[in-house]
Amino acid sequence: MRPSPKDIKLKRAEGIVEILWLDGETSRWSVYDLRCSCRCAHCVDEMTGERTLNVAEVPDDIGISDMELVGSYAVKFTFSDGHDTGLYTWDKLYEAGQQFLA
Ligand SMILES: [Zn+2]
Repeated sequence: MRPSPKDIKLKRAEGIVEILWLDGETSRWSVYDLRCSCRCAHCVDEMTGERTLNVAEVPDDIGISDMELVGSYAVKFTFSDGHDTGLYTWDKLYEAGQQFLA
């Protein structure tokens, strides 16, 4: 079964995105980690898959100013640095969120 979110909570004060899944699991992501793991063409070289984003330039206290559901499979975050081209699929948020917890 593909993961599907029941609720997505943005905890601004803690800098955390918490996702509650329909299967009862919870994923927690720091906004910083979300921003640094962006896979869009601006952040990752499409040919080599290497990260081109300089994470040293990502502010520690980066926030999310907006989020928008994309179809039924992903969410798009607008970060406080203005970056808004990355899509985060449920699969990615679910799996990596679990790793992040462990
Ligand atoms: Zn990006």
